[in-house]
Amino acid sequence: MRKRPGGRIREPCRCGKEIRKSTVKKCKEVLPARKMKVLIHTCCGPCSIYPVEVLQKEVEVAGFFFNPNIHPFTEWRARRETMARYAADIGLEMIFDDGYLLEEFIRGAISQEGDRCAFCYRMRLHRAAAAARENNFDAFSTTLLVSPHQKHGLVREAGEAAARETGIEFLYRDFRPGYREAVARSRELGMYRQKYCGCIFSEKERYYRPRDGRVGS
Ligand code: SF4
Repeated sequence: MRKRPGGRIREPCRCGKEIRKSTVKKCKEVLPARKMKVLIHTCCGPCSIYPVEVLQKEVEVAGFFFNPNIHPFTEWRARRETMARYAADIGLEMIFDDGYLLEEFIRGAISQEGDRCAFCYRMRLHRAAAAARENNFDAFSTTLLVSPHQKHGLVREAGEAAARETGIEFLYRDFRPGYREAVARSRELGMYRQKYCGCIFSEKERYYRPRDGRVGS
């Protein structure tokens, strides 16, 4: 707030202009506060429950499904359908990117074998950030931040890298305290719940038990 020569007190308005103090109230009435618009990348229905509920209290939210890391295709389809049904039930607007880039994902994951999850997060979150920019959102986030089974630090790094590359803000939140509650809710709702993270490598780690007890060879 500052005083101009002539004695009138002026202060900045949300509309961008500097206006007389006495007109601030009127101007706010003309320009109601706009909620931030956030596009949240959704990995599946169950993991969406808690983050979407939290964000809906603060901002305008829409979901974005892009997960070429889910194999085989029928598993991807089951998770997509679960997500679509849940979004329709709660009135969540969704953007589905149905590009099933299996070959691109496998090539990338194998070329960075020890770091395949970092590649996986980068691939998905870069696409989410680009979709947020194309569709005029203010920020993007991801439901991957709810699961204690994900590499939380790497998810955050991938989101921040995508933000730098695209110029769209990454809304980071640690949603993990809500994970158990969300699991219980998804069971109550009778949602389809996957048995492994997504890629064929994680499916192998979940089920493959060679006779000598070694895993992963
Ligand atoms: S284990 Fe999960 S996070 Fe890691 S590469 Fe596979 S699908 Fe992606």
